[in-house]
Amino acid sequence: IKKERSRAYCIFSEHLRQELEIRSYVISHIDEAVENGYIEIYYQPVVRTLTGKLAGMEALARWRDPVYGFLRPDQFIPVLEEERLIDKLDRYVIRECGRQLRRQIDAHRPIVPISFNVSRMDFQLMDVLSEIEAVVRENELPRDYLRIEITETAMVQDSDKILKMIDRFRGNGYSVWLDDFGSGYSSLNVLKDYHFDELKIDMEFLRAFNDTSRKIITSVVMMAKAIGIHTLAEGVETREQVRFLRSIGCEKIQGYHYGRPMPYDELLVHCQERHLR
Ligand code: C2E
Ligand code: CA
Ligand code: CA
Ligand code: CA
Repeated sequence: IKKERSRAYCIFSEHLRQELEIRSYVISHIDEAVENGYIEIYYQPVVRTLTGKLAGMEALARWRDPVYGFLRPDQFIPVLEEERLIDKLDRYVIRECGRQLRRQIDAHRPIVPISFNVSRMDFQLMDVLSEIEAVVRENELPRDYLRIEITETAMVQDSDKILKMIDRFRGNGYSVWLDDFGSGYSSLNVLKDYHFDELKIDMEFLRAFNDTSRKIITSVVMMAKAIGIHTLAEGVETREQVRFLRSIGCEKIQGYHYGRPMPYDELLVHCQERHLR
């Protein structure tokens, strides 16, 4: 037993050591990663439940590192948030989304709204609205093709400030989405106090996909409808889930069933092949 334990400890400490190493690497290399293009944006299709047509896409950051290879978002996003460096990434993501839309317009191809993730910390580090406005202006984009996703946990702190920010966004014609709805502890309060355009139902509810979780999803969709908020289900992987979501009137769907996050050009091909447009 003693031997087993010390072996387990070794594996554990090796894992921890690596994690700490990546952590400090991320902190000291974020500028370089952004400047040298190690950060790539992947786009995941969002599909209209009724028609199966492309309704938009979500921008998700990837870090392809020359030393560490592929880093997952959970290896760098939380670190950047804790170290108050997340704005460096998110400024870049917003700019890239704007450029991507501009390239699409220049190629005379139709565009769909792109949504991006904003962290709680971003509101302390940057003027998110000004950043978006600048990108829209520079790329001469139509309004509301860049959309903001805020996670529920982001509401917990500085709630007054975030509440004002959300109203400012919407006052300026931008849609604001509540991300990961149901994953936190304050779901209903958040809906009562903040004004969102759309609610993304956390994928945990679909993971189980049993009688109880189906009832919860159904109630969430009904409740959202009653207060005039659109719904999107995340993490949809099966046809059965699509059928269910259609039957309860959930408006949009995102998940591996329609496509994983992928580079923009790949997504264009993917959408054509799968007739998503
Ligand atoms: P999120 O905003 O909830 O994004 C959805 C996550 O679910 C993505 O993970 C996506 O790849 C994954 N996903 C989508 N469909 C499915 C599915 O059908 N099944 C399963 N199992 N997973 C699915 P990803 O890309 O690893 O991102 C993780 C989180 O990191 C995101 O969660 C978001 O909170 C954060 N993040 C990603 N990119 C950025 C960014 O540029 N800025 C900020 N601030 N946060 C980001
Ligand atoms: Ca999101
Ligand atoms: Ca989410
Ligand atoms: Ca999430």
